[in-house]
Amino acid sequence: MYKINKNECIECGFCEKICPIKAIEPYISFGYEIDETCISCGLCSKNCPINAISKIKLT
Ligand code: SF4
Ligand code: SF4
Repeated sequence: MYKINKNECIECGFCEKICPIKAIEPYISFGYEIDETCISCGLCSKNCPINAISKIKLT
């Protein structure tokens, strides 16, 4: 599972375009959000221009 740091995201929208299963959508107020369908491919994290997406452990 990956998570977007909303304080760092600059809303470039690249992760939303690149996600193969469309698990990333604009957040209500600002930034983007990854939903629970994420398959942890890591593409968004590798391609975010400011490294705002990081891997998190499932609880
Ligand atoms: S690629 Fe990074 S900066 Fe761009 S919208 Fe996604 S999380 Fe935000
Ligand atoms: S890790 Fe892969 S599946 Fe998950 S949100 Fe990022 S691009 Fe989409």
